[in-house]
Amino acid sequence: MNDLPRVILKPGREKSVRLRHPWVFSGAIASLRGHPSPGAVVDVVDEAGRFLARGVYSPRSQIRVRLCTWDADEAVDRTFLCRRLDRALSGRRALENDPATTAYRLVHAESDGLPGVIVDRYGPYLVLQLLSWGAEVWREDLVALLAERCAPRGIYERSDAAIRRLEGLSPQTDGLLWGEEPPERVEVWEGGRPFLVDIRRGQKTGAYLDQRENRLRVAPLCTGKEVLDVFTYSGWFAVHAASCGAASVVGLDSSAEALDLARENARRNRVEERTTWEEGDAFAVLREWRASGRSFDVVILDPPKFAARTSQVAAATRGYKDINMLGMHLLRPGGLLVTFSCSGLVSAELFQKVVFGAALDAGRDVQVLSRLFQGEDHPVLLTFPEGAYLKGLSCRVW
Ligand code: SAH
Repeated sequence: MNDLPRVILKPGREKSVRLRHPWVFSGAIASLRGHPSPGAVVDVVDEAGRFLARGVYSPRSQIRVRLCTWDADEAVDRTFLCRRLDRALSGRRALENDPATTAYRLVHAESDGLPGVIVDRYGPYLVLQLLSWGAEVWREDLVALLAERCAPRGIYERSDAAIRRLEGLSPQTDGLLWGEEPPERVEVWEGGRPFLVDIRRGQKTGAYLDQRENRLRVAPLCTGKEVLDVFTYSGWFAVHAASCGAASVVGLDSSAEALDLARENARRNRVEERTTWEEGDAFAVLREWRASGRSFDVVILDPPKFAARTSQVAAATRGYKDINMLGMHLLRPGGLLVTFSCSGLVSAELFQKVVFGAALDAGRDVQVLSRLFQGEDHPVLLTFPEGAYLKGLSCRVW
């Protein structure tokens, strides 16, 4: 028996813990023994006091404990971090050895057994997102271990303020943690093509790395085609498509800063003549273009997360349906629609239903050619299906 504080579950609420789901919600907890501080390691036990799992306590979050181990003999300490980190890094060895790709995720939080910890690599820089109390207390050890194992030029923190607030963590934590401050633009490679990333001010940790495999898969389908990349961000789908010989590519986004970077990415890849960038609200612009009769051979739709909470799912599905219908309207018969949702709360099944609804409303026959998923560096632990947030469909639209 150790002297860790204990979280005692209500009868019947141990089931998900036994199935190794990594979250214990506040409503499942009957009582506490001891006074765990935020970030303290606690044992989770059943009503009879039998050990179930061990994790990190977060007093203000709905997710009260994030579980780290189901082995009563495994301490959650620096050696634990070491083991988990090494496991995550070894899973990315193939990417590490591929000089054509230097931007990818090294640690994918719960799915890599490190709840709330995200580590992305951008060439010689690492970017950390720390989104739980556990992650917060591990910061120093993580930085030391990453510096030692990855020998980066610098480690920078970009923790998402909104999520940290829900955890009761101080929201402002961006900045240099170790080594050199990254420059305004860091050059990385994806599939042998150069891209510039603004680590300090860009969205997420600087880029949408989860779409890497999909970008590389879709681009060769664009050769000779007129392509529309909606929600282009800094133009990665668009620039890959143009580099694969698309006749023309239009990238559309509401962020002027993102489009500035997109233009630079096009120049860097010498495809600026075949790319144009439009700033605006996708819903409004697509509606306008539909009215004026514009059409394309390929439409890519990669919208932001429309549903962050369960209460937003209904509105999100309306948004997805609307944008997909507009995308279909702009496609010539036989054109390709590549459409995504990154809302974890919208399942792949629900998303397909939404696209089906859009096809009915658009009056088009739509064939699914393939199902798309987040890249392999964003793995999904089977015990944590919530980790599978990005889903997509590649469709022929008649
Ligand atoms: N496809 C990109 C990632 C897109 S992320 C890639 O592969 O890197 C979603 C993008 O949608 C963000 O760049 C955001 O600025 C943009 N966005 C959000 N709401 C929008 C809207 N209403 N109209 C147009 N763009 C929008």
